[in-house]
Amino acid sequence: MSTEFDVIVIGGGHAGCEAATASARMGAKTALITHKVETIGEMSCNPAIGGLGKGHLVREIDALDGVMGLVADRAGIQFRLLNRSKGPAVRGPRAQADRKLYRRHMQEVLGAYPNLAIIAAEVDDLIIENGQAAGAITRDGRRFPSGAVVLTTGTFLRGLIHMGERKIPAGRVGEAPALGLSRTLEAVGLALGRLKTGTPPRLDGRTIDWASLEMQPGDEPPVPFSFLTTKIANAQVRCGITRTTPATHAIIKANLHRAPMYSGQIEGVGPRYCPSIEDKVVRFGARDHHQIFLEPEGLDDDTVYPNGISTSLPEDVQRDLLKTIPGLEHVTMVRPGYAIEYDYVDPRELAATLELKKLPRLFLAGQINGTTGYEEAAAQGLVAGLNAAHRAAGKEGHIFDRASGYLGVMIDDLVTRGVSEPYRMFTSRAEYRLTLRADNADQRLTPTGIALGCVGSNRRSFFESKTSALESAREELGAMTITPTAARREGVMLNQDGLHRSALELLGHAQAGRATVLRLWPSLGALKSEVLEQLETDALYAGYLDRQGADIAAFRRDEALMLPGDLDYAGVAGLSTEIVQRLSRIRPSTLGQAARIEGVTPAALTALLLTLKTRARQVA
Ligand code: FAD
Repeated sequence: MSTEFDVIVIGGGHAGCEAATASARMGAKTALITHKVETIGEMSCNPAIGGLGKGHLVREIDALDGVMGLVADRAGIQFRLLNRSKGPAVRGPRAQADRKLYRRHMQEVLGAYPNLAIIAAEVDDLIIENGQAAGAITRDGRRFPSGAVVLTTGTFLRGLIHMGERKIPAGRVGEAPALGLSRTLEAVGLALGRLKTGTPPRLDGRTIDWASLEMQPGDEPPVPFSFLTTKIANAQVRCGITRTTPATHAIIKANLHRAPMYSGQIEGVGPRYCPSIEDKVVRFGARDHHQIFLEPEGLDDDTVYPNGISTSLPEDVQRDLLKTIPGLEHVTMVRPGYAIEYDYVDPRELAATLELKKLPRLFLAGQINGTTGYEEAAAQGLVAGLNAAHRAAGKEGHIFDRASGYLGVMIDDLVTRGVSEPYRMFTSRAEYRLTLRADNADQRLTPTGIALGCVGSNRRSFFESKTSALESAREELGAMTITPTAARREGVMLNQDGLHRSALELLGHAQAGRATVLRLWPSLGALKSEVLEQLETDALYAGYLDRQGADIAAFRRDEALMLPGDLDYAGVAGLSTEIVQRLSRIRPSTLGQAARIEGVTPAALTALLLTLKTRARQVA
């Protein structure tokens, strides 16, 4: 196929930025076509990156040499490691970002990216040849042929904003919706649905009574996202904490009939885990307050984002309810909140490479797949971008499985189970949590990234020297030993069995840890503190990880049993009609994926296994 570009990415949001840069890193000649260069990297809602589960995704993107973590480190104005009091497995890095700096740095990074062209235009249609995606057509009639296409249009597909009784067709406030592409996707025969999300009003920080509020600082020192970042250079800010009051709730209840969610005006389903304030007041009727974080949107910007009160109530009601919140009695509302409904594609239409089954060479990533959140979008973007580059080069796609990372967990959830509400990442969605930690994302994924070709030389050499420092430190600590009697003198109670224990074992012991080990072997103080910290975390989980390793091996055995794409499930003896329908719809790629489809029973799996064995014998 003769093409000007190998890969075209449509949409410069969080998914599009990662898709375009991943594809370009893979060596594919890539074009990013997006409405406006100035909105590349726009944070449509909250000015923050990371959090529980989401922070893991950012580290995984970073481990594969993606851009989100580095840009967030350069734009971050308050960093916090969430769940610090809990185990390292569920800690989530989060940063509040200066909205303008995030956009600016993302635009700088993309503008200078090798192999990447940026084109400002609206895509209205796709070039489809021989039943495969073969490029994009812009609204002004230009045709951009390509070997593969990644579609990352966020909330823009038939986007409709709701603010009280008002309805405004838009992809985001002030931006037109994408209508043509929805029609193209429908014409391909894809199942589309409607979802909704919302955003709170924005406030003028100069009119907030900060002195009356509890203030929350970030961590000192801040913990960056990227494994490559050594220092956070920006000044750091504090957030204010306030709460709704019974008076706020009374106003909301009195105006529920004007809320599009309750008047029947909105059809789409919203995120259960990120409800609007009207939703919270209805669903948790017994509570007399809900917490609100007042987050500055930038260092030279007085706009404040009140996290916790997203709403689609009419503008006058929003103004009234703000005045009932402590600290906001005299606040000026800069912009009202709103809800937005948009089309998404049922992600069960996708293979785990994020390529559409019905339209090969077209990959989808981000909000269009039914997810919500910048990090979820970015992680999918990276996977879609690297697989699109593979596809354009005539290579097989790469699947990240559930044991390799949260990005694998998310994609498997999406393509196997679909969504009934906007999908958001949580640590509880991962079964191998102790293995999939934010701190070891590079150890888990960078080698894969190097093998795939999506990790550049800078990160590769950084990773290799870190790995060798870890290995030599591990060896050094493994060779240093102590008797149980000597350990007891340090207050570490071990079985008095006379067996020597290594410094590495003591690192993971509940009564020992880094401080004790450094007291016993002061020479270890010469090691870098991050090396010792990593070894301590690994040692802490060592026993559990062995067990989890066995579970992962069993999981991967099932994942290795490939189900042929042309398997006629109706012809498999012993499957009920309902199971045949479910399997035919999703067409799982492995026996493991089949097992995760709702309603597929152990008996059905045995029947599938038998069929696989029979086919294998016939081939032999
Ligand atoms: P987006 O970031 O939306 O990017 C889409 C990009 O595609 C844009 O650059 C757009 O210009 C471009 N584009 C679209 N159509 C075309 C076309 N036809 N041609 C060319 N370019 C096109 N997430 C949360 O986690 N919590 C929240 O509370 C939350 N609230 C939200 C509230 C609102 C009002 C909105 C709009 C979003 C909210 N989100 C929230 C979602 C979050 O913004 C998205 O999950 C995230 O931005 C999705 O990234 P994306 O890359 O898929 O799409």
